[in-house]
Amino acid sequence: MTDNKKISIVIPVYNEEDNLKLLQEKLTNVLNSFEGGYEIIYVDDCSTDNSFEILKSIKNEHTKIIKFRRNYGQTAAMQAGINNSSGDIIITLDADLQNDPNDIPKLVEKYNQGYDLVSGWRKNRHDNLTRTIPSKIANGLISKITKTGLHDTGCTLKAYNGNILRNINLFADHHRFIPARFLEHSTRIAEVEVEHHSRMYGKSKYNILRVFRVIIDIIAISFWQRYKNKPMYFWGGLALISLLLSFIPFICLFFNLSNTNILLLYLILMVILVVSSFVFIAIGLVFESILKLSLEYYKGQNYTVETIL
Ligand code: UDP
Ligand code: MG
Repeated sequence: MTDNKKISIVIPVYNEEDNLKLLQEKLTNVLNSFEGGYEIIYVDDCSTDNSFEILKSIKNEHTKIIKFRRNYGQTAAMQAGINNSSGDIIITLDADLQNDPNDIPKLVEKYNQGYDLVSGWRKNRHDNLTRTIPSKIANGLISKITKTGLHDTGCTLKAYNGNILRNINLFADHHRFIPARFLEHSTRIAEVEVEHHSRMYGKSKYNILRVFRVIIDIIAISFWQRYKNKPMYFWGGLALISLLLSFIPFICLFFNLSNTNILLLYLILMVILVVSSFVFIAIGLVFESILKLSLEYYKGQNYTVETIL
């Protein structure tokens, strides 16, 4: 069923004591039919309830349990699970049973058709409107701006090529943006519809403030995607625009030589725009130097190779 590929399941856990036993049971039922073997990696993000005790009680030869010293957040928990995985396919899902382990075979089947990332799409979501509406807008924006074309980039249930995912360093709240980060390495991305259940036990760890973090991350990631390898195109472009704009007050100066008040205003505006263009060039040069240093460090390797025959 899996083409003998090993599956690593990565699950971030923060105060999910009432969900873990049932989750483990459901996962085991599904994964036992996978011939390539499997591991389930739970990352306890320093829960303050009994989650860790429960994880210890369900530990077996297929499970790995990592416990953080403090609460670092979902992205770090997922990164720790990914770093400690060895599977050909990594499947991430939430610990709260909102994602359904019974969808795993569907993801794997699609993956085996030749994709490197198969994303779950919660077409029929069971969250309240204050969650689903901002999430729909965010997903639409992320999909358009980061060019993933996915309907539901925020769904944790996804299957990834393990070798690629282990090469991506996640930071900030990038757990919502893994497909965008993934595009740096592969465009073989697909999606399948998956079940979504309402939370039975425990509560969501996020509130409406996440909207602002998502907006900031969208700006940062889309900038990264476009200018990661050519920062001077962006900063040099800004410098050029600023320099061209400085001609407007310069020209206006000559038409208002008699009016000393307005003359000063135009002069200040012109100086600000000219100085800004130098600052933009300086920032661009700093970015170029960082890029050059990192390329030297990685021996110019700003690409990923699939195979060399
Ligand atoms: N989570 C985590 N660390 C945190 C917050 C959340 O590991 O600081 C885990 C949480 O236990 C769950 C997943 O991340 O398995 C998604 O969290 P949640 O269900 O609260 O998010 P929502 O479904 O509301 O987006
Ligand atoms: Mg949830």
